[in-house]
Amino acid sequence: MTDGGRAVPAEETVARVVRPEIRALSAYAVAKSGPAWVKLDAMENPYPLPDTVKARLSAALARVAINRYPDASGEGAKRVLRSAVGIPEDAGLLLGNGSDELIQIIVSAVARPGAVVLAPEPSFVMYRMDALYASTRFVGVPLNQDFSLDRDAILAAVERESPAVIFLAYPNNPTGNLFADADLEAIIEASPGLVVIDEAYYAFADASFLARVPERPNLLVLRTLSKVGMAGIRLGYAVAAPAWIAELNKVRQPYNVNALTQAAIEALLFETAWIAEQAAAIRAERTRLESALARLPGVHVYPTQTNFVLVRVTDSNRVFDGLKTRRILIKNLNGWHPLLANCLRMTVGKPEENDLLLAALAELEPSK
Ligand code: PMP
Repeated sequence: MTDGGRAVPAEETVARVVRPEIRALSAYAVAKSGPAWVKLDAMENPYPLPDTVKARLSAALARVAINRYPDASGEGAKRVLRSAVGIPEDAGLLLGNGSDELIQIIVSAVARPGAVVLAPEPSFVMYRMDALYASTRFVGVPLNQDFSLDRDAILAAVERESPAVIFLAYPNNPTGNLFADADLEAIIEASPGLVVIDEAYYAFADASFLARVPERPNLLVLRTLSKVGMAGIRLGYAVAAPAWIAELNKVRQPYNVNALTQAAIEALLFETAWIAEQAAAIRAERTRLESALARLPGVHVYPTQTNFVLVRVTDSNRVFDGLKTRRILIKNLNGWHPLLANCLRMTVGKPEENDLLLAALAELEPSK
């Protein structure tokens, strides 16, 4: 636009057109690190692909017709995924560009004026963010001090707000714990809308709601391949009654899962023993890390069923900065939520990475 011959500066139009709640945000900050760093901030699997899997992957990727749009339905990838993870036959399945995209699709599908998105807090921040992007009201219900669900408070909020969708991360990020099965059942039972059980960390947990999808018409189980060694391909999946999947499928961008990712899924999940082996190695390392952390004075370790450990220290800012100067990157949760004061989240790394972390923590805590 020009105004009296002058091109209107972008900042002026942005200020007039872009919603104030978007302008008030800062973009999702991904912490910078380098190859020499110990990177324990993003819940990645630290292990590379086994050589046989790598060879199968490169052969599959070489065959992809890059000049063509991907298969819009993702049928081949879905078939492999269904058998690899045991998705109930009569359940519907939707693929996403990471489970991040599926959360956004779910919120967009229900975001009529007055709709409410509900989740306990602290939990995965994208539930709140996606509600904001869709101009939908978000209701956060605080967890108890021990990070268990405040069942009465959630049930009261369900009754009061009639949420269109409830997000429950199971196990929860960033607290690491599994909520009580009976609490989730009571919420599913009482909820007038959709209940999303987000099982991003299922591979490291002893429980899952996936098999209950056929019995629970308002349950959607969300999963991702990101935490089991495939974060780079961006593949999330939603499992729910076909009636839900049919509607969510309309909100999806036609080619949301690209051809390389679809081919990669078929190659990577051709056999899945490597995934189970890596997850078992991470679980074993988690146990070692938890007990070593618990021996450090000034460190309180919370129970975890994930590939990360949440701890509370006496001064998390100081410990976080001290680790950074040693090129160890974890997540400082101080300031995220009142319940997370002085909390740090650390991904379970390779044994040698965890040793570096433990040695650094022993130097830094308690306030030395
Ligand atoms: N849900 C939860 C609970 C998570 O912690 C994460 C990743 N941090 C996601 C969903 C998104 O995972 P992705 O988009 O990589 O599938």
